[in-house]
Amino acid sequence: MAITNNPNKAKGIEARWRKEINERWRNFSAAIKNIPLKSVVSNVTQSEQQEIDQYMNQFLILSTSLLLSGNGAWQNKFQLSAYSRAVKRTNKQFNSMIPETEVARSLITQDGFNLNAIDDHRNESAFLLNRSREALQKWIAALNSEARTILFNNIGVLTIPEINALIKERISVSKSRAKVISTTETAQASQRGVIVQTAVIGAAFKDSVNVRWITMDDSKVRHLHASWHGKIFTQKQANKNLTISPWNCRCGLVPVIKNRTPARVEAKFTKERKLLLAQESNKV
Ligand SMILES: [Zn+2]
Repeated sequence: MAITNNPNKAKGIEARWRKEINERWRNFSAAIKNIPLKSVVSNVTQSEQQEIDQYMNQFLILSTSLLLSGNGAWQNKFQLSAYSRAVKRTNKQFNSMIPETEVARSLITQDGFNLNAIDDHRNESAFLLNRSREALQKWIAALNSEARTILFNNIGVLTIPEINALIKERISVSKSRAKVISTTETAQASQRGVIVQTAVIGAAFKDSVNVRWITMDDSKVRHLHASWHGKIFTQKQANKNLTISPWNCRCGLVPVIKNRTPARVEAKFTKERKLLLAQESNKV
């Protein structure tokens, strides 16, 4: 059952990513406390507007340097390590499935691994890095705009501690969004690394090669993904599955070679799938 315990084997990467989020958001929250903000009376006058602009200039500088730093490229290392790990794991699994003599073996026994050496990997990983960067930029832009709105609407109406509490609330929303990115993109890097490497090997291999969908096999698995548990998909189908409700998905993929899995293994997956789906239907 070990395989369904942590299908992506990337819990450590996700934990390090989250740790960095905690540090960055903690430093940011501490830094913005030093931006001066005076209480001013009713309505936004010229001087109050100046106060808002000065505060927001600092807020923007701090959020850009501490939360985004390099447009969110700090996230890359986690994604790339999840992706490379998935490719290496796929190679290992193929290694145990493909006999010494078969042609695709040379692909999986090469030393080391360089993402840029293979077009498909380079394109896929570039797509993933861009997506998480854009998602983070979007949430930080939202944070900046919400902070400005809070100041504009509430200076002269609420006390400074009340205003700070509202801004703090928005900061924690942006932090939880960053965490959703970390969970989802760690899983996606792992899943897509497996799919692409399976396709790369499949292209050089005469047998039909696919991927098997593995859930965490617990009560938190969503119904749709439970219905895929243990099933075998082509690269195209698996990619499509990954675009449907990917948020917080914890599922993983493993390569399979057609007609080389013992019947008892298929039976085990079918049984697990039935149990998972039965659990689902019992939910209120
Ligand atoms: Zn899932």
